[in-house]
Amino acid sequence: MEIHPKQSRARILLSSVFGPYAQDDEFGSRSINPMELYHNQVTRAQGSFSLRMFHRSWGIMLIQANISAPCTVLDFPTREAFARELTANHYDIIGITAIIVNVGKVKEMCRIAREVSPDSIIVVGGHVAAVPGLESMIDADHVVRGEGISWMRRYLGEDEHAPIRHPAIVSGLQTRIMGVRLPQRKGSTAATLIPSVGCPMGCNFCTTSAFFGGKGKFVNFYENGDELFDVMCQLESQLKVHSFFVMDENFLLYRKRAMRLLERMKEAGKSWELSVFSSANAIRKYSMEELVELGVSWVWMGLESPNSNYGKLQGVDTRQLTRELSDNGIRVQGSTIIGLEHHTPDNMAAEIQHAVDYQTDFHQFMLYTPVPGTPLYRQMAEQGRILTGIDPGDIHGQYKFNFRHAAISRDDSKMFLDRAFRRDFECNGPSLYRMCRTMLRGWQRYKNYPDPRVRERFARETKKLSSAYNAALWVMEREFRKINESVSEQIHALRMEVKKEFPVMARITASLLGPLLLWSARREERRLASGCTYEPPTIIERSNWVSAS
Ligand code: SF4
Repeated sequence: MEIHPKQSRARILLSSVFGPYAQDDEFGSRSINPMELYHNQVTRAQGSFSLRMFHRSWGIMLIQANISAPCTVLDFPTREAFARELTANHYDIIGITAIIVNVGKVKEMCRIAREVSPDSIIVVGGHVAAVPGLESMIDADHVVRGEGISWMRRYLGEDEHAPIRHPAIVSGLQTRIMGVRLPQRKGSTAATLIPSVGCPMGCNFCTTSAFFGGKGKFVNFYENGDELFDVMCQLESQLKVHSFFVMDENFLLYRKRAMRLLERMKEAGKSWELSVFSSANAIRKYSMEELVELGVSWVWMGLESPNSNYGKLQGVDTRQLTRELSDNGIRVQGSTIIGLEHHTPDNMAAEIQHAVDYQTDFHQFMLYTPVPGTPLYRQMAEQGRILTGIDPGDIHGQYKFNFRHAAISRDDSKMFLDRAFRRDFECNGPSLYRMCRTMLRGWQRYKNYPDPRVRERFARETKKLSSAYNAALWVMEREFRKINESVSEQIHALRMEVKKEFPVMARITASLLGPLLLWSARREERRLASGCTYEPPTIIERSNWVSAS
């Protein structure tokens, strides 16, 4: 492979695509697809109770941390900020990362880069690289498919097999719920931990799995539990955290690594909390006690459909599994697909109700979407079912089908998707209430557990339950009377249980903080109704910069 002539002396800019994001424009921004993962595809029907936060562009942060060249990361720039950075500093290499919906922005950024910095080499990576024929659509010198750290190290003539240094990443920015922006105190938000990328399960629609090699393949950044433990200790001390958002598509699949991590955690008395993504078959490799001792407090699990035949769901009673996790204080985020091949207008209501009946703490609904690079896309393309003329900005799984479905029209796909979000909210209440319910179950079950690490973790979580979350319950109980009286009664019952556990604290917070939160939630509803949206801040981070000058 070609190596850049300046090698590690080359100055590099790594940028995400430009905003604003929560608006409709010709570059692919869409108001229904803001830069907010949860609000966008999980809690979007929950009004002021929607969980809103921004996540950084972790891929470019990882690359920056693993090269010795002088490097700037520019996250969430505006077009002007991107051009300004190229004018203010000369860069030998400009790296742009994007997902497929942002192909129009990548094209525009390449145009700006050529104009402002004609000598620079332009490298494009991230999921957008899977777009067929991308090279002819944009003016870039290199399109990088798959894992980018080793590519960049090779390009700079550095050792691509050197150990991976993990950057200190705070998992969420500017978190907001019920109109209140949570304080960004050091240690108050989980650290992002990225042990691997890809997933060997190879579900036909899965972009991440396909991008990092497909079925049977994945890339481990940390091979064993000892390496992982060391990285977590480092993040714990840098960010002062106890909790980790584990960004690994199927963390629990590698049982040996997870169990070694547990051994090390026990030896060192670490009372950590882990939010993980995992397939149902992988979760079933563990007893509930093992999961609890490992600190698993939140699981994102694909439920897809009761009639799908994905390998990860074979032989697992997902209904029973969800209940067990919840009874053990582990919050579940289910994920259901709308528009699978067997779906018809006649069975859609039952499929949606099936998903809603899980009563998970959070529920993501996504349209079945053939995305370039996946086996599903290849199959649909062979069958001539990919619709042409659709703007890539609209292919994000939250709008309408991008393929011809046997029984459901494009317009109906959106109608069913919207209905699923609404029904989940109306039948189950705000996710914040459901989380509180699961937390209380966990506390009641484990408050006297023999392992002090486990007791400490539940006590930590429960502190919030007896204070701010309890005031939020007071508000939700009131506000839900208008939507679903029975859910309001359930929230009331939960609040009484919390009060029984923490009589003094719960009474004080409900009466003092409750009215304030009610005012703020109603103000937020009015803001949202008038079209208010949120945008992430532009962030610039430089590394090895002094030595460059
Ligand atoms: S189990 Fe999840 S992460 Fe793995 S391939 Fe299937 S959808 Fe993707």
